Amino acid sequence: MPQPVILSDIGNVLVAFDFTVAAQRCAERSPFPAEALLHRLDGIKLPYEDGAMDDATFVREAMSALEFSGTAAEFEQIWCEIFTENVAMAATLGSLSGKLPMHLLSNTSGLHKDYLLRTFGIFSHFQDGVYSYSARCSKPGEDIFHHTIQKLELDPLQTFYIDDLPANIATAERFGFCTHLYDLKNHSALELALSGWLAEVGLS
Ligand SMILES: [Mg+2]
Repeated sequence: MPQPVILSDIGNVLVAFDFTVAAQRCAERSPFPAEALLHRLDGIKLPYEDGAMDDATFVREAMSALEFSGTAAEFEQIWCEIFTENVAMAATLGSLSGKLPMHLLSNTSGLHKDYLLRTFGIFSHFQDGVYSYSARCSKPGEDIFHHTIQKLELDPLQTFYIDDLPANIATAERFGFCTHLYDLKNHSALELALSGWLAEVGLS
């Protein structure tokens, strides 16, 4: 039977990220300047996150596009070390751990998802998730929300969904989710909205 659930995006909600950090480090092993590097991956980054290519294919094609002179393992490490845990969110979710299920819904790749879940303690609060690379579709499209509701057995009316992108929030609202547009610089707004919702569903 559906029950109150927290569903959360990852990037710029649970962790901040900065691809320019990876670009700077790659530039040390590439003939191209850091500012030009990320654009060279424009054609493969989104197909990779949508599951159109596997990890090894992405790494091989990215290394080729950047003329990266290191090993695949070195590229993977640089590609993944772009995240910083949101400590305010970790504290908020930690105080709710065990009180209700928490799940993830993220546009991400296999490399990043595996790295994130094994690296940051904030993910210990989450039981399950849906990821674009394995769902083979992404936000803000509706298909991934249909898939998420089915796989995680969610009742959108009883689910508090957190995301930092207005387009993703707009789709979630069409499905009836209770939503919060998150701003890393205004964590107290999330705490206020979340405590109001917890009271409504009888969990405060
Ligand atoms: Mg995000």
